[in-house]
Formats: sequence, C-alpha cells, structure tokens
Amino acid sequence: MRILLKNIKALHTCDDRRQVLRGAYLVVDDGVIREVGAGAAPSGVFDREVDLTDCIVMPGFVNIHHHFYQSVTRAVPAAQRGHLIGWLKLVYPIWSKLTPADLAVATSAACAELLLTGCTTTVDHSYLLPGALPEFVDEEVRAALETGIRLHLVRGSLTTFEDDIESELTALLGAKAGGLLDDESLVLSDMRRAAERYHDTSFGSRIQIGFGPTTVTYNNPQFMRDVASLATEFGCGLHTHFHPRTDEREVAGRLPAGNPSGFLKETGWLRPGTWFAHSTRLNDHEIGVLADAGCSIAHCPRMILRLGARVPPIHAYRRRGIRVGVGVDGAASNDAGSMIGEVRLVPLLHRLAGGEGNVPHQEWIDPDDALDMATRVGADILGRSDIGVLAPGMAADVTAFKLDAIGYAGAVVDPLTALILAGSESRSFLTMVNGEIKVLNGALCDQNEDRLRRNLDSSAIRILDEIAPLTGISYEKYPSRI
Ligand SMILES: [Zn+2]
Repeated sequence: MRILLKNIKALHTCDDRRQVLRGAYLVVDDGVIREVGAGAAPSGVFDREVDLTDCIVMPGFVNIHHHFYQSVTRAVPAAQRGHLIGWLKLVYPIWSKLTPADLAVATSAACAELLLTGCTTTVDHSYLLPGALPEFVDEEVRAALETGIRLHLVRGSLTTFEDDIESELTALLGAKAGGLLDDESLVLSDMRRAAERYHDTSFGSRIQIGFGPTTVTYNNPQFMRDVASLATEFGCGLHTHFHPRTDEREVAGRLPAGNPSGFLKETGWLRPGTWFAHSTRLNDHEIGVLADAGCSIAHCPRMILRLGARVPPIHAYRRRGIRVGVGVDGAASNDAGSMIGEVRLVPLLHRLAGGEGNVPHQEWIDPDDALDMATRVGADILGRSDIGVLAPGMAADVTAFKLDAIGYAGAVVDPLTALILAGSESRSFLTMVNGEIKVLNGALCDQNEDRLRRNLDSSAIRILDEIAPLTGISYEKYPSRI
C-alpha cells in the first residue's frame, strides 16, 4: 500500500542532524518510508492520502519499560501511600490471582493506550507469570499482535522477594507466596521456549524477546549468569530494575563482588544489550561502570513522582555517555499509561535532582532532547536500526499530534516545544506502525476501545473480589495515616 502524509506543519526526523522540516510530506510504500521532504508533495498514485494540517510529525515513540499485567491494579486508593516495600506488600496479593486471560486483556488495553498516545514500539517487562505457564507468554504475544504494536517482551521472573515480603505473603497466601515465587529451572526453560518461538530480529520485526528477573537476584548469582548466557545464545537483551537501594548495597557488600555493580559484572550483565529500569541511586563509580560497559537506563519520571522515589540526575548520566530512554512503567506505579504524558515530564523532573535547585541550567533537558530519548535513543537501546528515525529505508513507524486545541494558543514559535510544554491533550491524531494506520483522529482504527476497557474492568473487579476476603483490606479506602 502506498500512502502519502501531506501538509505537515513540522516534521522531526530525529536523525543525527535532528532535522526539522516545515510544510513537509512523507511517502510510505509497503510499510517502509520511501520519501521525506519539504515543499510540494510528490504527485503520483496513492492508495491513501492523509492531510496532517496543523500536525507535528515524528517517529513513533519507543517505550522501554512497562508491566502490562499491572493494569489490573490501576488507581487503587489503598495503594496510594507508601514507598516501595510497603506498596509491594499491598499489591503482590492482588497480582497473585492473575491468569493468562487477565494478562491478555491487560496487554490489549495497555497497548491500545500506548498507540493512542503516540507509541509504536513497547517493552513489556513481564515478570509475573505464576507457575511459568507457557500460556502467559503465548497469550501476551497474541494480544499484542492483535493491537498492531511492536512488542519487545522481556520474559521476566520472580525468584526472590525484597525485604521480608516472602514470609508475609506465604503466611497470607500459602506455599511459595501463594505460587508467586518462581522456580528457576522452570523460568529458564520458558525463557528458552519464548526465544525459540518468538524472537525475530528481521527488518521490521513485530516481536522480539528479552530476559530479566524483576530485580537483581543477589542470593542466586548462578541464576543471573544463566539468564545472561541465554541472552548471549539468542542475541536477546537483558533488563531488570536496578536502583540500587540501600538494602541491595548491604546484601551485595557481603558477597565476593563487594558491591552491586561488581555483582552485575561478575554475572555477565554489564554489556551494551542491558538496560536498567530507573537507576535512581547510582553513585559516581556506578555511573562510570555502566557508561563504560555500554549499558542503558529506562527513565520513568511519573513513577518517581508516584512513589516518591529519588529523582535521578539523568543529565549527569547522559553527560557521562549513558544512553537514557523513556518508559511509562506499569499501572501500579504510574496510574497513567500515556507515552506522551511521560515524554512531557522528561524535560522537567530531573531539574529537581538533589532537591536544592542546583542542577546547572546548562544541563537542563529541552524538548528536543526528550524527543530524541523517546525515539532514536530508545530504538538504539533495544538494538534496533530499523525504527526511531524518519528517513527513507526505515520501517514506517510514525506519530502525529494536532496542535489545534486551546492549550496551544499562543505557542507559535516552535511546534515541538508547544507539544511538550503546553497543551493537555494526549491523543495522537495519527499513529502508524509498519505503514499500517492504527490510530486516526484520536481513535483506534481496528479495535473497539470501549470493549477493551470493559474487558479489563471485568478482570480487575474479579481479582479484587477474590483477594479482598483473604487480605481483609478495603482497597477503596486510603491507608490510615496512623
Ligand atoms: Zn518497573
């Protein structure tokens, strides 16, 4: 199919030169970008022409951190107060009731929300797959393919819990924390199965597989080594949460490696294909170690705000040469799942790092940097050279936002600055994946949004009804302040 996108107000190529074309057009043929230019659109026969008057156009966003399954615990009042451990103790019991069918409806809804907010490629760090049932991965892939998004599924695991969570959950839910705690050998064999069945590195591939436990398993270095070996064998990426917290430093300090980054090095995790979620507490030594190893970071600004976490100095990470991409994180630590919403926070949040107003203004991230992080850099972190840039020969992943709402009035100098810093609309006018238009005029083209929402609502209601009598928690009430 030959498609012409025309009358574009401003087109950001996001290539090395960060070109911005005014009065631009873009030609797509058979899922691939053929022409990008400014001025009169090329003549010829097109199967479809889309008028993008008043629109800013850019590569589809690349979301490098998410947990689709958490969409069943969105905006739960009882989980709205408390730092990481207390919050995890509250949400893990709910997640223990998740089935492959629940994961499928959560995937459909999360991917639809991402498409509607400009995202064309997403990671899902899928680490809650009780019993390592193969149906979890199969159902997630099926549901994601149906939405049309590109998925990098990080087959995760939960072989260890933070703090004293395991004993508390086992007392409440039964053996192995109610079945939440994974068996390493089952996880490794399902990781292998997922890679053999789904990992596709061809041009424009829709599904790729990565590996990584939810958190660094300091108590089981061999498991970390085995996962890294699998990644080497299949050419897959590695991904996990890595802040590191004070308790992690204490545990790692008692090991031969002596510290968290030493442990990661010893277990084969420090490599260019590894990207860590958050990294809110890196010290100068660790920043250097990660930069020299070519590792990357997924920055999820709204999660920092939602959980009251430490603000990471991502300007310092970038200055040292660490690639930093953007992720929305799961719905339990970001009740919103909007990709443009996340990108809008990127130029703002890091200015609070340190909390003293002392981040040098010369290092403040501007909207152009935020766009780069959410497109070209994110694609590079995932090892993809076929997306993230609008140029001839690239896969046609495109998003467009219309700047005609009242919130953009007066923002006449620069369309990108207007989109990122002004306006409150979050729906894209157009989202195209592989040359297929998945969103037009702010609506899904081939899915019923209302049905997707109702399906996920049903799962969330069933799960909460099942778990509330066991935990005795009133999830609709905010936690006591006493
Ligand atoms: Zn996360």
